[in-house]
Amino acid sequence: MEISVILMVEMTEMLYLYDHYLKEFDGVIVEILDEKSIVLDRTAIYPRGGGQPSDRGLISYQGNDFGVVESSKDHDRVIHILSRPISDREKSLLIGKQVHGSVDWDLRYKHMRHHTALHILSGIVYQKFGSRITGGQIYADRARLDFTLDDMSKERLNTIELEMNKVVSDNRNVKTFWLGTEEALEKKDLYRLSADLLPKGLEKLRIVDIEGFDAQLDGGTHVARTGEVGTVKISRTENKGKDNKRIEIVLTSGA
Ligand SMILES: [Zn+2]
Repeated sequence: MEISVILMVEMTEMLYLYDHYLKEFDGVIVEILDEKSIVLDRTAIYPRGGGQPSDRGLISYQGNDFGVVESSKDHDRVIHILSRPISDREKSLLIGKQVHGSVDWDLRYKHMRHHTALHILSGIVYQKFGSRITGGQIYADRARLDFTLDDMSKERLNTIELEMNKVVSDNRNVKTFWLGTEEALEKKDLYRLSADLLPKGLEKLRIVDIEGFDAQLDGGTHVARTGEVGTVKISRTENKGKDNKRIEIVLTSGA
C-alpha cells in the first residue's frame, strides 16, 4: 500500500538568482521552524550551495533586528538561522508579517568576486586541457578548485594565471539566463563537473555566461563584469592524485 503524505511546502522566491546586486528586500515570514529558524516568501540572502558560502544579513521588523548568521536551502525553501531566539510572544507577532531584509554586502561581494574568478579559472583549464571540476570552495579571502588534470607544471600554472588576468582586464560582461533542462543538457560544455551531481527533476537550469569566453550551469552570485574580480594570483597548488589537482587563488587587488 502506498502512503501519501501531503505537505504544505512553502516556496521562497530566490531573489539573489535574478539580481546579484540586490542588497535589501521586503519579505513575509511564512514559517517559524523553531526559535531560531525562519522561512520568508522571498529573500536576497544567499543560502550556502555550489561551493559558495552562505550570506550573513539582517531581518528587521518594526525596529527589532534579528541577525542572520546562516542561510541554507531546503528544496524550494530558504531557511534563515537567526542570531538570537524568537520568544513565544514574538512568534505569534511575527508570523505572516512583512519584514525588511538586508545582505551583509561586504562579505557577499567578496564571495561574488571569488566565484567569478573560479569560473574564469575553470573556463581556462577546460578550454586548454579539457579538465572538469571534481571539487571546490569559495571563501571571503580565497577560493579553490580541484580538476581532472594530470600535469600541473610551473609553465602551465604561469599560463593559467596570465590568461586569468587577461580575462579580468578584458572586463567582459557576466550575465545569467535560463534554459529548459533538456536543451541545456544537450550543450555538453555547460555542465562542468566530472561527476553527475545535477539535481533531478528541474524544469529549467540557470547559466552564467562570461560573454565571449565561457558559459556554465550555475546557481551562485557573480560580479557584473570580470574587471570587478581584481588581479588574480595562484597562491597554492596541491597534487591530489594522478588525475586530480587543486589550484587555490587569491585576489590581490579589488575593483
Ligand atoms: Zn559557479
